[in-house]
Amino acid sequence: MSEHVVIVGSGPAGWAAAIYAARASLNPLVYEGAVTEDNRLQGTLPLGQLALTTEVENYPGFPSGDLSDYLRSSLPAEHHWMVDLHQKEGCSGPELMHLMRQQATNFGARIVTEDIVDVDFGSRPFQLKSGSGSNVEAMCVIVATGARANYLGLPSEEKYKNAGVSACAVCDGALPRFRDKPLVVVGGGDSAVEEADFLSKFASTVYLVHRRDELRASKIMAQRAIDNPKIDIQWNTQVDEILGTDTDGVTGVRLKSSTDGGSRVVEATGAFMAIGHTPNTDFLAGKLEMTEKKYVRWTVPFRTNTSVEGVFAAGDVADDYYRQAVTAAGTGCMAALDAERWLASQGL
Ligand code: NAP
Repeated sequence: MSEHVVIVGSGPAGWAAAIYAARASLNPLVYEGAVTEDNRLQGTLPLGQLALTTEVENYPGFPSGDLSDYLRSSLPAEHHWMVDLHQKEGCSGPELMHLMRQQATNFGARIVTEDIVDVDFGSRPFQLKSGSGSNVEAMCVIVATGARANYLGLPSEEKYKNAGVSACAVCDGALPRFRDKPLVVVGGGDSAVEEADFLSKFASTVYLVHRRDELRASKIMAQRAIDNPKIDIQWNTQVDEILGTDTDGVTGVRLKSSTDGGSRVVEATGAFMAIGHTPNTDFLAGKLEMTEKKYVRWTVPFRTNTSVEGVFAAGDVADDYYRQAVTAAGTGCMAALDAERWLASQGL
């Protein structure tokens, strides 16, 4: 039997799509991804990038305060361990994602904890193959597999993730550990400049570490960084090691000159990677039209349509510009509405 709607992905876009599709009686089936070591190392476990962050202070509707009672009443008993870890300061990324997942489940969304590894959009119904080798047929598909932040690949960087190493200044920058302290941002593109500018509102100094002598960022953004007295650009410099302790997390960064190899240490309580993102679209290669950077291309302005009729995309997998939880959830909602209307137009 063919599914009406299969949703691939389990970040805010996937769950928002599932909530709306379930409430529209489309009985969605969500492939939330597999819990594997490969996915852990890549940053592509179920629940997406938000599950890798700490506090979420900018998702509307979750002001700071003690949400323990609300979390306990909203999540099933098997997730109460999370409530016991609750920081009593608004909502964390993992909590928000579990709440969204639970909300989708409450409306009847069915969940499979596997990856989709291959698709055939050339036949109808569409064919999707899971990591375990099983096949599912779908009349309509919503792709919401997100993107993963690129990291440098240093073991010390891995060690201090969530203890000072981050790839999202907007998500984490206002945390107490970063206030009035020196911070490091790595990268030379618009993201790095934007993150450095954002962090300069909290930090004492932001070292913007760029491996070349010229920023890749647009001229106007680059000039903003150069003119900002709190941003200290470290030209021709790479990160050699993130320094820290088990109790304090990141305490500094060892930098290495790209020109003469000389090294030096700067004190910092945070190291923000802004060296680009990689969309999770490998399984879609050759199946959907992509942008140059391999993001799924939205083919109709202000809609979530893709190059294949009946396949819609939502969230960071198709958006390398906004990349926020709230915008991902917004496009997830749009994709479910687009899917519902498309199915109705086909009499399905
Ligand atoms: P990006 O433009 O690809 O820049 C990535 C930066 O990271 C580059 O400066 C690159 O150095 C550096 N980098 C990559 N790998 C590295 C490594 N292993 N070690 C050290 N440095 C490394 O990515 P982005 O800044 O995330 O921007 C992505 C897109 O979003 C762009 O089109 C951008 O314009 C857009 N965006 C726009 C805005 C805005 O307009 N407000 C804000 C953010 C992003 P090299 O320069 O040497 O290659």
